[in-house]
Amino acid sequence: MAAPPPKTIAHVDLDAFYASVEQREDPSLCGRPVVVGGSERRGVVAAASYEARAFGVRSAMPTAEAKRRCPRAVFLPPRMERYAEYSQRFFAVLDRFAPRVESLSLDEAFLDVTGEERLFGTGRDIAEAIARETREEIGLAASVGVAPSKFVAKIASDIEKPEGRVIVEPSRVQDFLSPLPTSRLWGAGPAVQKRLRERGLRTIGDVARCADETLVALLGPGLGRHFAALSRGLDEREVEPDSEPISIGHEETFNADVTSHEELGPILLRQADRVAARLRRQDRRARTVVVKLKYTDFELKTRRATFTDGTADGRRIGRAAAELAGGLSLSPRRRARLAGVAVSTLEPRHGPHQLSFDEASRQRGERLGDALDQIEAKFGERAVGRAAYAGDKRRR
Ligand SMILES: [Mg+2]
Repeated sequence: MAAPPPKTIAHVDLDAFYASVEQREDPSLCGRPVVVGGSERRGVVAAASYEARAFGVRSAMPTAEAKRRCPRAVFLPPRMERYAEYSQRFFAVLDRFAPRVESLSLDEAFLDVTGEERLFGTGRDIAEAIARETREEIGLAASVGVAPSKFVAKIASDIEKPEGRVIVEPSRVQDFLSPLPTSRLWGAGPAVQKRLRERGLRTIGDVARCADETLVALLGPGLGRHFAALSRGLDEREVEPDSEPISIGHEETFNADVTSHEELGPILLRQADRVAARLRRQDRRARTVVVKLKYTDFELKTRRATFTDGTADGRRIGRAAAELAGGLSLSPRRRARLAGVAVSTLEPRHGPHQLSFDEASRQRGERLGDALDQIEAKFGERAVGRAAYAGDKRRR
């Protein structure tokens, strides 16, 4: 398969958002350290202006600690409604630049600007234009990163904050990533970093030069291949516009309560097949599976798990759901009256999936699903069933 043409993705992030809103609304705060956050006794810092950061104040730090580091800062309680208004206007600006905008939070978004060059010029022109219009319309500074993938674009926007403009051309991705610490790898928490460090792998470049088998031996097949791909800048996640549904689910209340996992398994598998069929109809895959049980006392329990790659395979979703449900108690004394399977973190199904680990088996599972879909479309949805359904007496 030929390599897909490179995408152009922008990541835009407002600088010190809450604190900047406060400085804009009260000019006497400009140039002064401003900390927005909870009370001194129990709260944490939600945002710190760059003047406050110079004293070592950081978000998520206890407010009391921030006061110690910078006693003369102006401490303000958050005004979320005000920030939400700014956020709306910010996204109205972003919507002009791309048909696909994905919000990550009130002040942060990915834009797929592939092909927008004709309208807006080079990646740098686009970054400048987004930041300029944001400044003009809402009076706030933004940092922008432009790169061929989400992973790299997000790092690029962060690395020269505030008012950063970092453009990473496709040919420069490896040079850009290599010197960065492994903590910049998406999904590399302290435990993974420690493992890598013990192997002498400190930078993303170290990881990129490492053989895939070594990483797999060190971190397991899922994570190993994930970081092998990321360290080389391979991240095929699409920008997912917010207007698309965020989850798909199927649930049912039983006529007779369910009292064992043996009984529940086939039900979850059937529900998963329904969910997977809807995913395939919408041409999507999902990365997250959620299983939900409601007990006869109406207590609701949910469990979720995330795949390292997207799937639209009912069997795989069903197996994951049954495994998750296995962690929930179920017995004649602890009976369930409702069960459901849902998926979220949806992504387009077609297109490149370099991060997938078992593409062949996945495609087989999905092809089987496609065949089931076609038979069902022709003969009605009860025409087919998996052998595993046989144990499901509730199937009508
Ligand atoms: Mg921000």
